Amino acid sequence: MLLEVSNLTTAYNGLIAISDISMNVAEGEIVVVAGANGAGKSTLLKSIAGMERPQGGSVRFDGTPIDAMPAHQIPQRGLAYVPENRRLFPRLSVADNLRLGSYLYRKQADREAPLEQVFTLFPRLKERLPQRAETLSGGEQQMLAIGRALMTRPRLLMLDEPSQGIMPKLVDEIFEAVKTIRAGGVTVLLVEQRLVESLEIADRAYVLQTGRVMLSGTAAQISADPDVRRAYLGM
Ligand code: ATP
Repeated sequence: MLLEVSNLTTAYNGLIAISDISMNVAEGEIVVVAGANGAGKSTLLKSIAGMERPQGGSVRFDGTPIDAMPAHQIPQRGLAYVPENRRLFPRLSVADNLRLGSYLYRKQADREAPLEQVFTLFPRLKERLPQRAETLSGGEQQMLAIGRALMTRPRLLMLDEPSQGIMPKLVDEIFEAVKTIRAGGVTVLLVEQRLVESLEIADRAYVLQTGRVMLSGTAAQISADPDVRRAYLGM
């Protein structure tokens, strides 16, 4: 397993947000984490990325424990994380935001290597290189955030609700991009509320409810689950 999460528990000021979560992601998979607002999806990703300190349990990436590692050391291991709020540098250009994504590499050639891949994935970014990030549409900002994460040349890309606040046409582009990213050899852990679209591209899914794993299985199993169909798919 590329990512192994075991019995992970994270609390905020004593209030448990996720409890005893075990899940894993194999190399080459797209795995979706779904669940209602407040179920703990973002907390799970933050705890994996080192942005929140879990109280219990462990996170291993490619066999190495990363749960006690400072957050800034995690990207260099090959794990990239695009948070819900995207955290772009709003006053900087698209080009500079992308450039900052390649900070892990010293050599110019290594820094620029993923650029063409990012432009193929999101041609809009190439058209808007001098534009300030804050002036991009929501969907374009999401593309830039994903592009910047890809500049670190990750093995695992974690995306927190990339479709949020984006017009429908661009939502499709984002889901297509996730498929293309995986086809390019990057494993993807995707947090999404849009379960129908995510299950179409995912191999497996975990459904969280009040901080716990309520259900897990293949995308086909989750799509066929009566509770999921009722609660999330409106059937
Ligand atoms: P959403 O889809 O609304 O983003 P989520 O499934 O990602 O929800 P989390 O954001 O992980 O859920 O929140 C899980 C629980 O932890 C919620 O009860 C939330 O209020 C709480 N929580 C999240 N962040 C903090 C924080 N920084 N301080 C205190 N409580 C928090």
